[in-house]
This record gives sequence, structure tokens and C-alpha cells, in this order.
Amino acid sequence: MTTDKLVNYLNTLQSKGLYRTRKNTHNQKNARISFRDKTLINFCSNDYLGLSVNETVIRALQKGAEEFGAGSGSAHLICGHSHAHHALEEELADFTGRERSLLFSTGYMANLGTITALCKHGDHIFEDKLNHASLLDGGLFSGAKFKRYPHNDSVRLSQLVSAATEGEKLIVTDGVFSMDGDVADLKALSDIAQKNAAWLMVDDAHGLGVLGKTGGGLVEALDLTTDDVPILMGTLGKAFGTFGAFIAGSDTLIETLIQSARTYIYTTALPPAIAQATRASLKIVIEETWRREKLQALIAQFKTGAAQLHLPLMPSDSPIQPLLVGDSFHASQMSDQLIEAGFLVSAIRPPTVPQGKSRLRITLSALHQVDDINRLLDALDTIHQSYSYNAK
Ligand SMILES: *Cc1c(COP(=O)(O)O)cnc(C)c1O
Repeated sequence: MTTDKLVNYLNTLQSKGLYRTRKNTHNQKNARISFRDKTLINFCSNDYLGLSVNETVIRALQKGAEEFGAGSGSAHLICGHSHAHHALEEELADFTGRERSLLFSTGYMANLGTITALCKHGDHIFEDKLNHASLLDGGLFSGAKFKRYPHNDSVRLSQLVSAATEGEKLIVTDGVFSMDGDVADLKALSDIAQKNAAWLMVDDAHGLGVLGKTGGGLVEALDLTTDDVPILMGTLGKAFGTFGAFIAGSDTLIETLIQSARTYIYTTALPPAIAQATRASLKIVIEETWRREKLQALIAQFKTGAAQLHLPLMPSDSPIQPLLVGDSFHASQMSDQLIEAGFLVSAIRPPTVPQGKSRLRITLSALHQVDDINRLLDALDTIHQSYSYNAK
């Protein structure tokens, strides 16, 4: 009986164009990826600065493994917290201009653990509707009263926050939104937070490394301090090219998380070699500003080209450039056609995005060349012309 139910569930997904499959790939340097018997130009990775394939970072990983072993051997609070982790935490605190930082094994766990450590039954959590699933799950798991406000609607948020009278209040937002590529109005959010004695937590998984003069992300680009954004979350598997995540903030915040964030306490620490590799990549993020400049130039080139071809790009200045398709079947078909044409671009469908908002999520990297972008634009033009859109 149970198996029948699962079969039904899987069949339903298939009939709705929502079935997900994994691609068995082999990542290469220069923004190329092998899939089946083809080498494709990769336009769906979050490796915005190309650091996952950087020689210096790879060597730091190798050396780190020789020095510290392949794994950490335990959780941080037992004996897994090595010199490598500690040094990286101090460097991330400096980098973000916060008193301290705390490493988590993944971004999902950082978000879940932080939100549930700070808010409980009787407290209030407010989240943008388009927040990453890990932030939404944190809100749900916490047991607090959980409200989602319409995307970037700070007027609505303000009403909701001021109506909450008892308990702690926590406002949570993506910095750069992961499926849309646009950014949160952090100045407005921080005003609302300060007026209402609420916490503000910003998940800048897609802004760190990419935005700001030294890659400090949206908070650096907007010149916001710890007072404005007391809880800053970043991931290390995107622009940093490695793996893991961190929370940066005050000494008190970090101590609280060490004592009570269950996803910090009850999990094995990252391999220290990963921390060593991330220390090398952090240096490159800060120093090699040409990577950000080149990425910005490629974004501008892509947007200009797409506008000339009347491609329905969603408004975004980030390396996440979604092309709205609407129907989930069409999005999948376009993604398949792009593979035929030599490009890997992922189709993003519900429930990751709302019904009727399926899209191709095109991501750019400093590893791309001007010619890669031109070739993608040509292919998109051809494929786009062969479809009629039902996007709303
Ligand atoms: C990727 C991502 C996460 C999760 O980070 P992982 O380290 O991959 O678990 C969290 N928030 C946002 C906005 C993300 O894009």
C-alpha cells in the first residue's frame, strides 16, 4: 500500500512536469562541464568567482588534508574544533567587520540552527515570501509565530512587526534572492527592525564575494554596520568555491549559538582541510578585485544583449539572471534544448518558485568569456523564438 502511494506521488510529479532528476556530471575548469558525451558551457553553477577550480585553493585543500587529516573526527564541542576552523572564524569576523563568526557545516544548518536558537514558542518571525527554503524551514521548526510578507514589501512588514506585542521579534531575509537575483531593501528593513526592537538576520549566500568593494556582500555595498544587521549569514560553497557556512555577529550572539544551536552542537565539524582551503579562497576574494569587475562586465554584456533580443529577463543586477518562462514543461524543454546546443542552464520549477513562474536560472561566473555570453545569447534567441510564453 505504502509503495503504491509513492508510485502515485512520483507519477503525479511526472505528469505535471515537476519531476526532478540529477545530472551525472564532471566539472571542469573554465566554466565547462561534461555531461553524457558532451562538454557544455556551464551557466548554472554558483561558483561566481571561479574559486572552486582555483589552483591555490586546491593546493591549500591538499596541504590541509596532509596536515589535519581527511576529516575532523567529531563535533566542534567535543574535539573537532581545530586551529584551522578557529583561524578561519577569526578571518571571517575581520572580513565582515563583526566581533566574531561561527562556522556551520552547511548553510542549511546555519539557518535552521540560528533561527531556532533565537526564537521559540511565543516569539515572532517575519520572512520575505521568496526567502531560501532553509530560512523558511527554520521559521517553521522554531515554534514561533511565523509570518511571511510579500516580496520586498517593507510597508506590509512594518505593519506586521508593529502589530506583534509580546516576545522576541526576528526579521529574516535573503540579501540577494537566490532564484530571482534581485536584492532586499536592507536599509528599510533595518529601520523597521530598530524601531520595533526586532532582530534582523540577512542570509547573503549570493552576495558575499560578489558585491561590495572587498566582496563583503550586500551589507558592504550598502555600508551597513553590525547595529543595522546584527545577524549576518554567509555560505562558503558559492563565491568562495569550497563548502560550509558561517554566522557573523556580536560576541554574545556567537556564544549563544555555541551553547544552543542544535545544528551546530549535534553534527560533525567540517573537515579542517576545507577550512584551510576557504582561508586561501577568502584571501583571493578580498585581493583579486578583477574577478568581481570581470563578472560585473559580463553581467552588463548579458543584460544588454538580452534586452536587444527582447528576452524576458527578470530584473536583476546580480550574476543570477533568470529568464521567465512560466510553464514548467516549457522550462524543462528549453533546458534540454540548451543542452543540445552546448549549454547547461537549469530549469527552476515549483515548489522552488511559485506556480506559473518557472524559469531558466542563468548564472554567470568570472570564469566565462565574452564569447561564451554571445554564444548563449544566440542560443537563447533561437530557442525563445520557437516558444510562446504563458508567463504572468
Ligand atoms: C545555498 C543557500 C543556502 C544553503 O547553503 P548550503 O551551504 O548549500 O547548505 C542558504 N541560503 C541561501 C540563500 C542559499 O542560496
